[in-house]
Amino acid sequence: MALRLFNTLSGTVEEFRPMVDGKVRMYACGPTVYDYGHIGNFRTFVAVDILRRYLQQIGHKVQHVMNITDVDDKIIRNSALAGVPVPQYTAKYQKAFLEDAATLHIEEPRIVRATEHITQMAQAIAKLKDQGFAYRVDDGSYYFRIARFPSYGKLSKKDFGGMEDGARVDVDEYEKDNARDFALWKSPKAGEAFWESPIGRGRPGWHIECSVMSMQELGESFDLHAGGEDLIFPHHENEIAQSEALTGKPFVRFWFHPRFLLVEGEKMAKSAGNFFTVRELVLKGHRPSSIRYLLATAPYRHQFNFTFDGLQSAAASVERLRNFQLRLRTKFAPGSNPTMQTLAEETCRRLSESLDDDLNTAQAQAAIFDMVRTANAAIDAGNLNQSDVEPLLAALHRFDEIFSVLEDDDAVRMKQIRDWAQQEGRKDEISRELVDLLRSSELSDDEIEQRIQSMAAAREARDFSASDAIRAELTAKGILVEQSKEGIHWRRK
Ligand code: AMP
Ligand code: ZN
Repeated sequence: MALRLFNTLSGTVEEFRPMVDGKVRMYACGPTVYDYGHIGNFRTFVAVDILRRYLQQIGHKVQHVMNITDVDDKIIRNSALAGVPVPQYTAKYQKAFLEDAATLHIEEPRIVRATEHITQMAQAIAKLKDQGFAYRVDDGSYYFRIARFPSYGKLSKKDFGGMEDGARVDVDEYEKDNARDFALWKSPKAGEAFWESPIGRGRPGWHIECSVMSMQELGESFDLHAGGEDLIFPHHENEIAQSEALTGKPFVRFWFHPRFLLVEGEKMAKSAGNFFTVRELVLKGHRPSSIRYLLATAPYRHQFNFTFDGLQSAAASVERLRNFQLRLRTKFAPGSNPTMQTLAEETCRRLSESLDDDLNTAQAQAAIFDMVRTANAAIDAGNLNQSDVEPLLAALHRFDEIFSVLEDDDAVRMKQIRDWAQQEGRKDEISRELVDLLRSSELSDDEIEQRIQSMAAAREARDFSASDAIRAELTAKGILVEQSKEGIHWRRK
């Protein structure tokens, strides 16, 4: 069995093999830090995180680099409007991005910043000009001459044969039918931020940033390059043109493009105004683990519609997994049940098969829930033995190495976001639901267990007022306590 991935460049699902055995060099386009990231952005980053975690699980060492675009058209425009220098404007959003990524358990890549590589970018542009791939125009800007790169269009599968030589576009983002010579370097307009460089004053275009930083970090040819589907054209097409023109070598072997997160059928986007940030959802009372789980639910190559119902059912799924893990801590009768042993093995096999199949996360989730359902039924029927716990837990943890929702640090993250809202003067956005959730998470599982035991002891001693007092305390903290003939059970609201 081997991992098979869809490669946008070949247009087919291929077996993934790195150029050097056991070592994967991958680059993911990171955020443009002009505002808070929305969960559409984070769908892409979570998909890349899942890819990274699975590569690690199957034994690769992963060198994962991500850029932060801390200079581009929008940043220049917004910082000028706000009347603050570019670094000051972007610092806040960079910090927020890294915090949000940690909130969603995204393993931190090596981060590189555009503004720290301006000289290298200017040098690359000078080289492209010397080789005839770039030209300078009167105002001091530089453009890439796409007519000099005949395979332009090979990633986006567009035929640009009929284009007009020398037609130019100077904005970083443009439409698919707009195959024009694109800006490598932009000379500053009045009042705009600029850098001094060997090719003059100005700022790099967005596309050259990624070519220069990815090759500097990972070499002239590397294994995998990722970004949301909107980056296929022009961004990644332009990266290929620039990089291959510079080196004469194939730039990247595999191109990985997660599809959009939608809201009512539309792309979630700042410009459409139909977006939620991670912070907004948490302030509304949703746990970070529910958000991560939801974003990982649909396989990355399917567009996925965001709904609050979906978020609720993701929360229920995470709770079921955590409760199952808790249940396995119970003392069971000694010995082992061969059916449970087979169930655990079978689940591990299904997990690998699902993820090998172009990261089919939906099937992996189905496999773990089949296991939880069957094992819970076995516990109910008294058919699970002590030696079955270890293999079942191992399967659960194998799943969690990828999905990362079992560790309950939701409260810590939610508190950070509540504090941030208070500092930012956004207190009004802190919902009743979040306040309740935080109250219920004040007690750890062990502390709750201790109280349940005291409650049972009080009942045993027929001290009902003591038992009722403990129940009242737990209820006030959002913990539901239920009596049944097997004893006292609890769960968080
Ligand atoms: P940006 O900060 O706009 O450069 O975007 C950061 C990343 O998020 C890029 O890889 C985009 O392709 C991706 N992205 C933007 N909108 C969405 C969306 N609605 N769904 C999934 N990915 C998105
Ligand atoms: Zn990029």
